[in-house]
Amino acid sequence: MSGASVKVAVRVRPFNSRETSKESKCIIQMQGSSTSIINPKNPKEAPKSFSFDYSYWSHTSPEDPCFASQNRVYNDIGKEMLLHAFEGYNVCIFAYGQTGAGKSYTMMGKQEESQAGIIPQLCEELFEKISDNCNEEMSYSVEVSYMEIYCERVRDLLNPKNKGNLRVREHPLLGPYVEDLSKLAVTSYTDIADLMDAGNKARTVAATNMNETSSRSHAVFTIVFTQKKHDSETNLSTEKVSKISLVDLAGSERADSTGAKGTRLKEGANINKSLTTLGKVISALAEVSKKKKKTDFIPYRDSVLTWLLRENLGGNSRTAMVAALSPADINYDETLSTLRYADRAK
Ligand code: ADP
Repeated sequence: MSGASVKVAVRVRPFNSRETSKESKCIIQMQGSSTSIINPKNPKEAPKSFSFDYSYWSHTSPEDPCFASQNRVYNDIGKEMLLHAFEGYNVCIFAYGQTGAGKSYTMMGKQEESQAGIIPQLCEELFEKISDNCNEEMSYSVEVSYMEIYCERVRDLLNPKNKGNLRVREHPLLGPYVEDLSKLAVTSYTDIADLMDAGNKARTVAATNMNETSSRSHAVFTIVFTQKKHDSETNLSTEKVSKISLVDLAGSERADSTGAKGTRLKEGANINKSLTTLGKVISALAEVSKKKKKTDFIPYRDSVLTWLLRENLGGNSRTAMVAALSPADINYDETLSTLRYADRAK
């Protein structure tokens, strides 16, 4: 990964009404970049501590140094990734965590309440930068696609008529891609916001025992950003193309903990497979970068998600992960498993 490992952030959301009504206790502690979790089943056990690039709190006051507004999260993570895209890197930001832990809030947020997440803030700044830098020498183009991966099948969220199972193919030069996936040219932030709204409405959500609208699919929003530089003296043009992938992963809860059966259990197995593979790919890349080895076996092909993100995870790319956490004791097992997953990504 060109010497750079994955930037990892953890973010604790406020208590939800279910946790409050059960009088749940907070089991997460944060101090600087250290995040610890207390085992509520055995409070005498020493807290397990982890260290991440960023640790964010959401349920204290804004004066708390760990308190993170949507702006702060964007400024720390999204802004840096956007700068890398302008430098010509492919970038990927993904949100991991159990259903209801705050992945969609982090990635999309709530626009109507001016709590826009990373994706809308990044898109807005992308067009601001384009209009600041556009001149006779520099020109830009932006294309977006939005897909959902559900049970290893790909669906186009920008063309809901295309209900099916799009084929994943491999281009000899450009790598893996989805055949017939809509790629729409956009010229303003409003264009993107409208497409995202339509895509989000089209997204499949299925109920589980865990949460009525728990998300069982991965949503991948991709921006292909092209910068063209024209040299008027030589009359030659050069082009830099960057792919920005913004991924809201399916809930990481294990199927057995939700009491799932039949189709739900199959969904769970597929979700586990792609999340496990993503974890393996990222830790393999982190190992490669630590040992400064050039090649190692990276199991991209083991899931559709990692195969399609191949160009955004290894090689010429920069990656950031936000692990979303519940503060509550009742979610101890899932929260610990999310912290471990995030820890392996470093
Ligand atoms: P997920 O996508 O992981 O299933 P959501 O993002 O939908 O979870 O979050 C569940 C609920 O918690 C939503 O109502 C969301 O608005 C709220 N929430 C999540 N994170 C935060 C946060 N950091 N601050 C305030 N509210 C949050």
